Amino acid sequence: MSRKNIELIINPPAPHMVGDGFKMHNFIPGVPQLSMQRTNPFIVLDYNSLTELAPSDHVRGVGAHPHKGFETVSIVYHGKIAHTDSTGFHGVIGEGEVQWMTAASGILHKEYHEEGFSKSGGKFQMVQLWVNLPSEFKKEPAKYQSITRDKMSKYLLDDNQGIIEVISGEYNGIKGSASTYTPIHMYNAKLNPGAKANFNFPAEYNSMLLVIEGNIRVNGEQKVATDQLLIFENEGEGFEISTDEKSVVLILSGEPIKEPIAAHGPFVMNNREEILEACNEFNLGKFGYLE
Ligand code: MN
Repeated sequence: MSRKNIELIINPPAPHMVGDGFKMHNFIPGVPQLSMQRTNPFIVLDYNSLTELAPSDHVRGVGAHPHKGFETVSIVYHGKIAHTDSTGFHGVIGEGEVQWMTAASGILHKEYHEEGFSKSGGKFQMVQLWVNLPSEFKKEPAKYQSITRDKMSKYLLDDNQGIIEVISGEYNGIKGSASTYTPIHMYNAKLNPGAKANFNFPAEYNSMLLVIEGNIRVNGEQKVATDQLLIFENEGEGFEISTDEKSVVLILSGEPIKEPIAAHGPFVMNNREEILEACNEFNLGKFGYLE
């Protein structure tokens, strides 16, 4: 097994607002080196870095909007998000929880700060990923996987070094509870001071990490600070993360989907005809209805 070297370490780009509730740093595809093809199957990575929200009676968020052709994965580190969709589903994503929504053939939904959290205010920090689907699965009905704290798979590192939460894929024999359409390893490494943890992913998988909290070293030398994203070269398999402080790191590795990508706003398909079709379906109300 050879070492996986670092291709780039990237500071968060200037944030933009999604609705009035989410102040997102768009790493993918906002950073020129992080095109959807380069990082696929991860085709969007939006990051709301740690923010202190003032108490508000006005519940902030983003109103009804469609998605088609992919999955959205919302990972909440601080705060609470409420969501409602055109299938009648409603739920809350709490701190330390993940919602894996398969939009596939199409859905309408809205995403807001949870009302009680909005009223009390406090720390807010989250990631939303868009994960692409192979064309055969873009036609599937929409569905959800709610990975609440009690469902989160955990690998305990030796000697109280911390835990690896396995959202999907596998780490040292521990399988994540989310099922995926293509191979995807997604972890939150929650590390204590002095921790060292090793990871192995196939060379051809697109692999990256985002430092959510603390400061880490990768392969013993390269420092990566809070809010920085690191992308690995597509060579070698193994890397090590170490830290002298309490740190949280989101680790992503997925097999690229070798298909053309046609993206337009909330639709990600394989070609322009399918994008036009998605726009038509949306205009005709085929994704359902949501106030
Ligand atoms: Mn959405």
